Amino acid sequence: MKKAFRSVGNWVASFIHSIRFRLTLWFVIILALVLATFSVIIYFVTARDLQADSIGRMQNKFTQIQNYFSGPQWRVSDLSPDNVPGSNAPLQKGDLLILVDDKGTVLQGWGENLSNPNGIINELVTAGSQHRDLNIYEQTVPILNQNKQPTNTDYLFIITPVLRDNLLLGYLIIGSPSDLNSLLHRLMTLLAFGNLGMLVIAFLGGLWLADRAMRPVATITHAARNISESDLNRRLNMRGRDELAELAGTFDDMLGRLQAAFDRQRRFVADASHELRTPLTIVNLEVGRALSNRRSVAEYQRTLQVVDAEGERMTRLVNDLMTLARMDSGQAILQFEELDLSDVALEAVERMSALAEHRHIKLETGEFPELQIRGDRQYLIQMISNLIENGIKYSGLDQTVRVEISGSKNTASLRVSDTGPGIPPEHLSRLFDRFYRVDTARSQNSDDDSAPTGSGLGLSIVNWIVEAHNGKINVESKVNEGTTFEVTLPLQK
Ligand code: ADP
Repeated sequence: MKKAFRSVGNWVASFIHSIRFRLTLWFVIILALVLATFSVIIYFVTARDLQADSIGRMQNKFTQIQNYFSGPQWRVSDLSPDNVPGSNAPLQKGDLLILVDDKGTVLQGWGENLSNPNGIINELVTAGSQHRDLNIYEQTVPILNQNKQPTNTDYLFIITPVLRDNLLLGYLIIGSPSDLNSLLHRLMTLLAFGNLGMLVIAFLGGLWLADRAMRPVATITHAARNISESDLNRRLNMRGRDELAELAGTFDDMLGRLQAAFDRQRRFVADASHELRTPLTIVNLEVGRALSNRRSVAEYQRTLQVVDAEGERMTRLVNDLMTLARMDSGQAILQFEELDLSDVALEAVERMSALAEHRHIKLETGEFPELQIRGDRQYLIQMISNLIENGIKYSGLDQTVRVEISGSKNTASLRVSDTGPGIPPEHLSRLFDRFYRVDTARSQNSDDDSAPTGSGLGLSIVNWIVEAHNGKINVESKVNEGTTFEVTLPLQK
């Protein structure tokens, strides 16, 4: 039972917080304000018109009665409709005609409901004595009916002083039943219930419309809740041109990007483990072979050299992977400063000269003009070193790797060229992809166990560093002639 109450409570809470409910509520509140304003205007305009109308009629009646009294006839009973043929009798059924003296005592009265308590007459006489001309009152007067029961009829009264030789004899009061108040009361009830009804219809209709409009959101929410890492290929494929279809399209695009990112990540992990497995297998095989039988010192030395080289290879691979992971996660923070590109390039050349010497490669420098750029010194040195190292790695003995710098109006260029084996054109477009290698065999000098071997990550790191410096990298290569990498960076003015 408690559970049922809680789930109903949850449903109510989520309904109250839902956009469709709030949207509808706002719509109904605004509509209520508009309707209320209109109703108040209609009510007051109608009240004013009706009042003016009934007062006009009353004055008309009064003039007729005044005329009658100035004529030869003096019988007031002649004024009643029973005695006047046609409809132009000044007194109608229910009308009152009362003659009072100046103290308010009734002298004569005509009309059906004359059991009128003095209260209203005194009130009228007081008012009449203050203004000696026409006075009009709208009053609910407790007049008694034939059974002496008070009725609740509204009466409109007119009072006028009766004078003779400028002496006040009394007052003449005419009362006529008025349905103005009950009319207005009915109008108000009609407006109130009409408006309430309209608001209820607007609320229900608005809720239905908002529900319809919001249905795609529920679809998107449902899909988002159910899509997991393993089924990122799902799409909403919502048709239409409205905002929600646009949202669904954006959601689909995001799923596409996520899927691509996950695929890249999976490939990256698979490639990385594959790359690590090769040296580990080699180490296992070599160690297993060395342990299986007694070996000569030279053989043990060779095994240890292999283990050392593979260890170095794994260290480089892990370092490269960590660099890329830092770059991907945004943790690689570049410390930009003003630098002389030739200075940075020289440091990279000096760093790589020992390796070049060891591999019998001529590492030479061309023009090195001073060129100011903005960049991170360490990352730039790593980028240039990677390019020089590739030149050394992939070129044969006694070949040349050349580094040179040149400047134009807005850019500084660094070229690293070699006279190595070159790269077939079909590979050039994918050269900067992670783990991409042209020749998966080991480097040219693979007979030398200490030779650095590649994992296919170097150029993707180079590319990332160049892009982080708002630069561009270009490669030109001819098989059996050599390769040139050219990096262009914006010049600091
Ligand atoms: P690796 O660690 O294998 O060197 P890179 O990303 O640096 O990875 O290079 C990708 C591939 O591009 C290399 O495997 C190599 O085949 C090719 N390559 C790069 N630089 C050169 C070069 N100077 N001469 C010939 N081939 C090159």
